Amino acid sequence: MEIERDSLRARQLRARDLLRGDLEGRDLEEYVEERLLTTTLENALNWGRANALFPLTFGLACCGIEMMSMVTSRYDIARFGAEAFRASPRQADMIILSGRVSIKMAPVVRRVYDQMLEPKWVIAMGACSSSGGMFANYAVVQGADKFMPVDIHIPGCPPRPEALLHGFNKLQRLVRGQPDLGWRQRYNAVGTEEWARFEEGSPTAEAIERAARALAPKHSETGPADA
Ligand code: SF4
Repeated sequence: MEIERDSLRARQLRARDLLRGDLEGRDLEEYVEERLLTTTLENALNWGRANALFPLTFGLACCGIEMMSMVTSRYDIARFGAEAFRASPRQADMIILSGRVSIKMAPVVRRVYDQMLEPKWVIAMGACSSSGGMFANYAVVQGADKFMPVDIHIPGCPPRPEALLHGFNKLQRLVRGQPDLGWRQRYNAVGTEEWARFEEGSPTAEAIERAARALAPKHSETGPADA
């Protein structure tokens, strides 16, 4: 406690010296270096956006219950600046597709997404919104990315709130311009892509080269992953 008081006193005295114009030379340089942070406008904007993502108040099915618990004190997404669920798409930054999307609902979801202002992001929460899940039938869209762009897919049925938080943290890194690399990029696993069902046999050399080209720029653009 004594040490803290001393250091506070020392800082007060240095601030006083600066205001009086008594700080010079190396002391002045150190003082300024300790207090200045340089960055670009784009980085500052992205940092602000990533730490104030307002989700849309929107639920589709059972996953919605897990999504709601994300704001409770136990999981507390307020730590990451996303506790303010907005009732209007015009005030929301992201939409969490928490549940299965029926064919009937798809145009409604798309309309709501279109009403959100740019920039906007989408999380597909759970097996149903990511791939149709167990509902492999005519009534359910087999993956929300069939009719709208999805930034993050979260597996599980339902994913626990911790998984949703983990996915949300990944979205934050994406918004900051430092997205986590997929495992293929991290392990340079070119050639392990899934191939369309109608293609027979092994992928051709050209197809593998094409996939390698698609992966290559992301390495240099994004730099090392955060986690
Ligand atoms: S993934 Fe599971 S919990 Fe989520 S909407 Fe589908 S069936 Fe319900």
